[in-house]
Amino acid sequence: MSERTLVLVKPDGVSRGLVGEVISRIERKGLTLAALELRTVDRATAEQHYAEHDGKPFFGDLVEFITGGPLVALVVEGTRAISAFRQLAGGTDPVEKATPGTIRGDFGLEVQFNLVHGSDSPESAEREIKLWFPNL
Ligand code: ADP
Ligand code: MG
Repeated sequence: MSERTLVLVKPDGVSRGLVGEVISRIERKGLTLAALELRTVDRATAEQHYAEHDGKPFFGDLVEFITGGPLVALVVEGTRAISAFRQLAGGTDPVEKATPGTIRGDFGLEVQFNLVHGSDSPESAEREIKLWFPNL
């Protein structure tokens, strides 16, 4: 039951030099990389990626943040890859929810600047992989 999930090392993760750290954790977990690209995303793509949050108070800042610098987009593959990466990432709030030992728990302090994204369901993964890697 191999799955694919869309992972982002967000601009804060790139600027803090944590790309290698994140990829290392993905690989050590036993997941593999199916695609990887450094890119600066346009506003339309960012708004589509986060469409479920359109209208929430943090939406504008979130889109500004995600488009504000280069990020690393990856497709990660393996058994239960979607849940497995969410486990590696930790909860959305790096202090209140993510526990030590997770990426967010080990390196994050603020909810917005929580370093990584991972698809939250098979439906999200399919939608997000199509959006970020249409040729995959
Ligand atoms: P996750 O990334 O864990 O799936 P969500 O889908 O709920 O979390 O939110 C998407 C992203 O929006 C978060 O990763 C975070 O960067 C940002 N975010 C979520 N909630 C807030 C908030 N209350 N204030 C600021 N930014 C937020
Ligand atoms: Mg989410």
